[in-house]
Amino acid sequence: MSRRRHDSRNGFTGLLGDIQTHINTEPMDSVYEITGELGRGKFAVVKRCVEKSTGKVFAAKFLRKRRRGRDCRAEVVHEMAVLEAARNNPRVVNLHAAYETDHDIVLLLEYAAGGEIFDHCNCDEPLPEGHITRLIRQTLEGVHLLHQTSVVHLDLKPQNILLTSLAPLGDIKIVDFGLARKLGMVGELREILGTPEYVAPEILNYEPITTATDLWSVGVISYMLVTGESPFAGSDKQETYLNVSQVNVDYSQEAFSRVSELAVDFIRKLLVKTPEDRPSAADCMTHPWLWQQYQYPSIEPITPRTPRERSSGTKWAAQPEDPEDKENFALDSPHTYAKRFRFEEEPPTATNGGDGDF
Ligand code: ADP
Ligand code: MG
Repeated sequence: MSRRRHDSRNGFTGLLGDIQTHINTEPMDSVYEITGELGRGKFAVVKRCVEKSTGKVFAAKFLRKRRRGRDCRAEVVHEMAVLEAARNNPRVVNLHAAYETDHDIVLLLEYAAGGEIFDHCNCDEPLPEGHITRLIRQTLEGVHLLHQTSVVHLDLKPQNILLTSLAPLGDIKIVDFGLARKLGMVGELREILGTPEYVAPEILNYEPITTATDLWSVGVISYMLVTGESPFAGSDKQETYLNVSQVNVDYSQEAFSRVSELAVDFIRKLLVKTPEDRPSAADCMTHPWLWQQYQYPSIEPITPRTPRERSSGTKWAAQPEDPEDKENFALDSPHTYAKRFRFEEEPPTATNGGDGDF
């Protein structure tokens, strides 16, 4: 599956070109010390690095300018432009600086010290649902804010949702805007992109891409967090694609033995073939699953903080690496969401359970 096939087919790249961030050409090793590798993809390697003057940790994403013998600098600049456009989105990783070498453009990104939520998707002991709902709420907040600016991520998956800290479990940060696009720039967006087990049916069918495509991914991520399994992964690519296009999902007792009915209802509403039938990110925020009260004491987001607690260095306080308070959304009630997102109807409350309808 080619990530960029559409570009040569119709001449429309949909890439953003304007950036404000200065791209430094002096050697970055006079400013930063590289201390290890955090991850890698097809065209990028991400390294942990420390700013020598301050001791502050960043993630340096080295993006190759030439890929498959083609000059891809414009695609790297596009990724920077999308990150810049999302600067005020607290759920998106912040772009701090950029450097250019002969082969790479290096993005100095806010460091997400807690790793990928993927690590909580394929382990024997899934996270308690109260933690999962907090992470999904935060993901939806980030996605909602992106969609408000007509940006679609198109590569949401557990490897691209990071955590600010691991213990206590921090806040989410969305990364990897290489496939993100601005909707409505030129004509319709129909592209073949993404990783087989996470792509939405409309992508496989070469149908128009909309914000609903990201909501499919939120359904896949939610499924993976609650069950520890990937809903569409087959034994090979063909089987995976078939599972996706037939929306062949296992909701059996076996997979969902320890999962609440509301969680199943939430996932079922997102993993639907017709994009228009999926709820928007704002609609999702009113689903009672996300506001369910959990009985066990360790669930962090339930207790609202007073303003004093928010800045007092408790476990709610921001991590030292990022002075911003990132819990501000997560503590809101669904009623507050209704107001913020200007819903016309009252959303279900966390306690009435509702029938799971959006
Ligand atoms: P690619 O486009 O190659 O998939 P990503 O931006 O997704 O590149 O980065 C690859 C991996 O590097 C991520 O899945 C994650 O594990 C790690 N990573 C990326 N950005 C950060 C960050 N800001 N902080 C910590 N780790 C990161
Ligand atoms: Mg990635």
